[in-house]
Amino acid sequence: MHDFRYAAPRSLEETAALMAEHGAGARLLAGGTDLIVKMRARRAQPALVIDTKHVPELSALALDDAGLTIGAAVSCRRICEDPAVASAYPALVDCGTLVGGTAIQGRASFGGNLCNAAPSADTIPALIVLGARARILGPAGTRELAVEDFCVAPGRNALAPEELLVSLWLPPPPVRAGAFFLRFIPRNEMDIAVVNAAAALTLDPAGTRIEAARIAIGAVAPTPLLVTAAGAALAGRTVTDETIEAAARAARDAARPIDDMRGGIEQRRHLAGILTARAIRGALARARETER
Ligand SMILES: Cc1cc2nc3c(=O)[nH]c(=O)nc-3n(C[C@H](O)[C@H](O)[C@H](O)COP(=O)(O)OP(=O)(O)OC[C@H]3O[C@@H](n4cnc5c(N)ncnc54)[C@H](O)[C@@H]3O)c2cc1C
Repeated sequence: MHDFRYAAPRSLEETAALMAEHGAGARLLAGGTDLIVKMRARRAQPALVIDTKHVPELSALALDDAGLTIGAAVSCRRICEDPAVASAYPALVDCGTLVGGTAIQGRASFGGNLCNAAPSADTIPALIVLGARARILGPAGTRELAVEDFCVAPGRNALAPEELLVSLWLPPPPVRAGAFFLRFIPRNEMDIAVVNAAAALTLDPAGTRIEAARIAIGAVAPTPLLVTAAGAALAGRTVTDETIEAAARAARDAARPIDDMRGGIEQRRHLAGILTARAIRGALARARETER
């Protein structure tokens, strides 16, 4: 690994000042499960590594009536093991417990997963369907961005070189709502998704009609995709096999996968439809549970 300087700021102001001073020459470290792998392979060679684990705002996990705030450096393990968070947002547990294995989950953050911007990132589709927004700090102040607009290309995000992700904010789950995430990998664990998918639905008081729906798919395009056509195929409709198949078809049509060692184009398209249908059924089951 190359020589680099290390800083462990204790405040957001100090972190922002370091970013403003060093910009593209610095890299922020959350769990390091992507960054350190890249530095070892010399695919990233920052002059300065800024450890964010000691910054209170980046390590905060807070759930209240206004929603859920996840500091950018909060580990998957902390999120998944918080009973109140797990009960209000089970789709976060679906994906958080799939990132690597136990050791990785103890370090890896949702914030790092998002900033790394891999097309196959497992936490991003669930964040998208849950309506998560990224809270960003830079020299010009703070701004917010919907998570579906955060990744701009494989490995590239919408942050300017001096900006940092402070936290993710998720709205409170509506009543009669459910969300679900799943992925396909050729092995049982520790692999990158061939395709992944998430769905979030809100049902009417009778539990038969879908009032609102969001569908997202990953590993089938340069960035994780919010498939608005799939959500539109469900919203306002009665739950039937045909409705679910129409949404799955829309997800299949939106997929623009590549061919690689993990899967072929047709296989990925097919899987995008299958996983979308399964995510919808999982979300429906959870929405019906919350009715009781
Ligand atoms: C063995 C192994 C298995 C894995 N399995 C999976 C898997 O199943 N699914 C999956 O999706 N991923 C997987 N990963 C990838 C990785 O674990 C995840 O992407 C993880 O969530 C990254 O989080 P982190 O906190 O470790 O990020 P880091 O490595 O600390 O950071 C990732 C990137 O984000 C930047 N960054 C960090 N914090 C900020 C911030 N506050 N603002 C702006 N930029 C920031 C860093 O500079 C870096 O570029 C695996 C990795 C390994 C090594």
